[in-house]
Amino acid sequence: MLQLDSHPTGRHFLQIPGPSPVPDRILRAMSLPTIDHRGPEFGVLGRQVLTGIRQIFKTQHPVIIYPASGTGAWEAALSNTLSPGDHVLMYETGHFASLWQKMATRLGISTEFLAFNGTDEHLPLAAGWRRGVQADLIEARLRKDTEKKIKAVCVVHNETSTGVTSDIASVRRAIDAAGHPALLMVDSISGLASADFRHDEWGVDVTISGSQKGLMLPPGISFNAISPRALEAMKSAKLPRSFWAWDEIVEMNKDGYWPYTPNTNLLYGLSEALDMILGEGLDNVFARHQRWAAGVRAAVNAWGLPIQCADPAVYSPVLTGVITPEGVDADAVRRLIHQRFDLSLGTGLGKLKGRMFRMGHLGDSNDLTLVAMVAGVEMGLKLSGVKLAGSGVQATMDYFAGHVAPAALQKAA
Ligand code: PLP
Repeated sequence: MLQLDSHPTGRHFLQIPGPSPVPDRILRAMSLPTIDHRGPEFGVLGRQVLTGIRQIFKTQHPVIIYPASGTGAWEAALSNTLSPGDHVLMYETGHFASLWQKMATRLGISTEFLAFNGTDEHLPLAAGWRRGVQADLIEARLRKDTEKKIKAVCVVHNETSTGVTSDIASVRRAIDAAGHPALLMVDSISGLASADFRHDEWGVDVTISGSQKGLMLPPGISFNAISPRALEAMKSAKLPRSFWAWDEIVEMNKDGYWPYTPNTNLLYGLSEALDMILGEGLDNVFARHQRWAAGVRAAVNAWGLPIQCADPAVYSPVLTGVITPEGVDADAVRRLIHQRFDLSLGTGLGKLKGRMFRMGHLGDSNDLTLVAMVAGVEMGLKLSGVKLAGSGVQATMDYFAGHVAPAALQKAA
């Protein structure tokens, strides 16, 4: 057993943007006995989760489930569709887009990293990390590629390092407007099941996702949703792959099995998560996260601190990044909040280290969990000597009190 120095009372506030707090219902489902992964019962479970997950991605086509973290599913997307030396267009929205680009380079893919070319008053060194993908830059670049050398366009849907989303439909329109055959690959590791996502309608060829964010599961499962064009590309793709290879998995998944040992208990959890999310309805799930995000942003605005996302059109419903005043180490504030109030916040990643922290509003949460998070942050900022313009707690309470949650309306009816 993990030995903790002390046993704090009450629940820890896990307010990082994933892994998100796991509902008790899912934890209980995962505590069922592990079964034979080649036996008949497993086939039923396998078929059930493989069918249900398609509804979450909004696709009619196969979704691969890997016993791996999201990073594995990134590699799977690239290695199943590309060949050594292939050229791909990626877009720098933040730390995770940068890690994906680094991975592609390590795999022997030639990458081109597009980025916002403007300036920013608060974060001059990371201006592009405050905005979403600009589809017009992608369109302009694809139009220049008359020889169609670019094999794929890779973008992150919800940049977890910044709290900025990107308009995926606009990227598809840009590719089509340029008349370009490049595949569209989208990382929706932290967007799926919290932010609107439509694999088929938006013409995405591979969507990559993970279990530990909107699906409210522990880490350990990741996904590739694949279009018929991506499956076709697989046939001529020459990057080495074995564990990640789609062909054998798709074949065995038809009966609900895998070519290797899947993580049975996490699949029990996935089955329960699908019941919960599809039972609530995806549109309600998205509206719930939008409302939570607006309540949390009300606090940041009341404090008078800049939100990491500089464009209100693409605020993330999953997390809010807060830029600390010059000279205030955001990680020191986080540490103090953790020590004093048993509340975990997300750290600033890469270029943002020490300059911002991230408040997660996803997973097993509700209005009062988020008011408590805001209270913990407000106390921590004050204790760190940050001058606040007003009370964020009051602003969040006012927002939630003034905007009735759809679930509460249903209860009252
Ligand atoms: N992409 C995004 C947008 C993420 O948020 C993360 C993890 O937080 C990853 C990729 C990497 O996934 P993992 O840490 O599960 O390997």
